[in-house]
Amino acid sequence: MTTTTRFAPSPTGYLHVGNLRTALFNYMIARKSGGQFILRLDDTDPVRSTDEYADGIKEDLEWLGLNWDRVEKQSDRLDRYNAAADELRASGRFYECFETPVELDLKRKKQLNMGKPPVYDRSALNISDEDRAKLSAERDGHWRFKLDHERINWTDGILGDLSIDAASVSDPVLIRGDGQFLYTLASVCDDVDYGITHVVRGSDHVTNTATQIQIIQALGGTVPEFAHHSLLTGPKGEALSKRLGTLSLRDLRAAGLEPMAILSHMAHLGSSAPNELASSIDELAENFDLSNFGAAPTKFDAEDLKPLTKKFVAGLEFNTMADALNDLGVPSDIAPAFWDVARENIDTRADVATWWNLCQNGATPLIADEDAEFIATAKTLLPAAPWDETSWKSWTTAVKEATGRKGKGLFMPLRKAVTGMEHGPDMSKLLPLLQKVNL
Ligand code: GLU
Repeated sequence: MTTTTRFAPSPTGYLHVGNLRTALFNYMIARKSGGQFILRLDDTDPVRSTDEYADGIKEDLEWLGLNWDRVEKQSDRLDRYNAAADELRASGRFYECFETPVELDLKRKKQLNMGKPPVYDRSALNISDEDRAKLSAERDGHWRFKLDHERINWTDGILGDLSIDAASVSDPVLIRGDGQFLYTLASVCDDVDYGITHVVRGSDHVTNTATQIQIIQALGGTVPEFAHHSLLTGPKGEALSKRLGTLSLRDLRAAGLEPMAILSHMAHLGSSAPNELASSIDELAENFDLSNFGAAPTKFDAEDLKPLTKKFVAGLEFNTMADALNDLGVPSDIAPAFWDVARENIDTRADVATWWNLCQNGATPLIADEDAEFIATAKTLLPAAPWDETSWKSWTTAVKEATGRKGKGLFMPLRKAVTGMEHGPDMSKLLPLLQKVNL
């Protein structure tokens, strides 16, 4: 059977790092085995789902290079979900309930007060025909799947052997009072129809998985392999859920972080593999192994993406940057040499503009009081522009002879005066690129 995985976001918001982990794991499983990766939009909630978010999700995945083989939308498949509901009704696994949210809440509170788990008591199964007719005239009923009260077992790809007592779980609501199909029924139908072989998702879905296994079986489908990855926390172990709004993929993109850095980090995070930059998604997929991941919550710190981004940018070939440099106005004859100097000294691609500004306009010199005289002398000895790769050497030799300074005392004040910074590129390579020096 072809390995088929899916990433199933709801288009009710933009993707964040938590979703990305799920997307990437499913993507890599499919790619590693030469299988199929489906993007499924879980848009059965017509109020919260928007085309704008659906487009945003696609754009973010494309930006990362997580290309899908097929895209599906749950809102296109309501007929199929209706048919599945009929099938469950016919087999006696579906029943209509009339409790209002307030009544359900009250029941739950009572159960909790009595020290009982807040599991739905199935009282709807005991309503007389007469009461049922009355209730159905008054309100819209919702539909629950009747779980078989037995243990539900599976071997989870990350968590190992799991066993959940179905009696400890409420019969899941699959259709709301207003007729809206809930995610569980839609997801199960899709997983069965699309031949999904592996489902990786967050550990907040473990109980859903137990109920979904029974629904899949009730619909005559094949149960996929399930795996539940740990949830991400902030760097101090705090829940990330509240901060996810600031950790959307588009925020990371706007901050100049690189897809390959993000993917490399995400593919290793929570496993024993080191946080290293991979050269391609294929390489990540090749080395991906679910069994390297554990159940413990996984700390995520966006700061960790920075060194990987810096390394990625430093490794970019000139050709990749040629258009961007041209747009910045870097003349083509010096662009390759400029990129060579800049790439080691930037954190993100966008930073290259700072270096071009410096080359074009010169820096505001940084001159300590005790160096003022020294720099004034140096200024008179600066060879006439244009400079080449020998200019720095001849200048510093002349300055050394004139002032008697050497080593750091000679070079550092000159660097600071020319670049306005204490660190930076090899000065003999930078000087030929400077259109101007403000001494
Ligand atoms: N739309 C669901 C979610 O985002 C999908 C869960 C699943 O993978 O089945 O939580």
